[in-house]
Amino acid sequence: MTVVDKLRNEHDISRYELEMLLTTNEASCIEALKSSAREEANKVYGNKVFIRGLIELSSHCKNDCLYCGLRRSNSTAVRYRLSDDDIYYCCETGYKLGFRTFVMQGGEDGWFDDKRMCRIVSTVRNRFPDCAITLSLGERSRESYQALFDAGANRYLLRHETASPEHYAQLHPAEMSWQNRIDCLYALKEIGYQVGCGFMVGSPYQTFDTLYADLQFIRNFQPHMVGIGPFISAHDTPFANMPNGSVQTTLRLLAIIRLLHPHVLLPATTALGTLHPQGRELGIQFGANVVMPNLSPRDHRKDYAIYDNKICTGEESAECMACTEMRMKRIGYETVVSRGDFNPNYEA
Ligand code: SAH
Repeated sequence: MTVVDKLRNEHDISRYELEMLLTTNEASCIEALKSSAREEANKVYGNKVFIRGLIELSSHCKNDCLYCGLRRSNSTAVRYRLSDDDIYYCCETGYKLGFRTFVMQGGEDGWFDDKRMCRIVSTVRNRFPDCAITLSLGERSRESYQALFDAGANRYLLRHETASPEHYAQLHPAEMSWQNRIDCLYALKEIGYQVGCGFMVGSPYQTFDTLYADLQFIRNFQPHMVGIGPFISAHDTPFANMPNGSVQTTLRLLAIIRLLHPHVLLPATTALGTLHPQGRELGIQFGANVVMPNLSPRDHRKDYAIYDNKICTGEESAECMACTEMRMKRIGYETVVSRGDFNPNYEA
């Protein structure tokens, strides 16, 4: 039995098999990995791709993550915040375009405290009762996560960034704690959110060991979603001169994650599209089943600059949606008007 067959049948991988799959130059092996991952995705989701409308609420952040262009020490970063009405307008536009999931993401910005954020979530919940609300606002208290859930949020994206505490300490300032991030993820799950974890591929100091730990973490945590994309250097950060992550490695990891967890919601990320003109299409072909077009107001798009050269910063939301639909259609996939919830029993 080949390594790919074993991974597919047993939903498990060893440290050495991982290294082999990420380093092999054998075209037949890479092709087998890709086609197996796509077959598994087809069994669960068919040729359907779920769309999520991304609304970037704030470029202010109190944290100082070494990789991120929005870290508080970056004095050249342009800071903005969306108003409540800006956010509702984005949702309105998105709804008309067919989005049934709104992802509100932002830096850790105290302006969006529980009072403000609960008001926003409950307003969106009331105005768009058939939509899923996903939050990606970093680390908050359990009480805050609970209040936002009670206000109507359904899902939360919080990448674990790395499953190795030592590696975490190389990516973050000493005041940030790996344990707290992991505790947040477990709290979110206990509260009842559909939860997404994930990591950057090719982040500085990443090794096969840390990647293997990431896959083991995913295996134990059993997230509903996994977000991975290549690390991309951001100017005016400590990692400005670090090399970008590899598109090939990201694609192979997408396929491996699909084979480990056939039902997982797996986006082909904007970062992948930034490093390769067909990155998102390739992501789908390696087993991803979600894309997240940008719904943020065009005026602020370029200022949500977590990394350099981010794509889709010049278009209106309608253009982003049309482009996404066209890109998926060209490779034989169909974007669907649906909440696209995680469903372990779903078989297309
Ligand atoms: N403040 C929120 C949202 C962060 S942005 C939070 O803490 O979750 C979402 C993700 O973008 C991060 O979790 C990180 O994995 C990724 N990211 C940040 N900087 C990046 C970079 N330079 N290259 C690629 N991805 C990056």
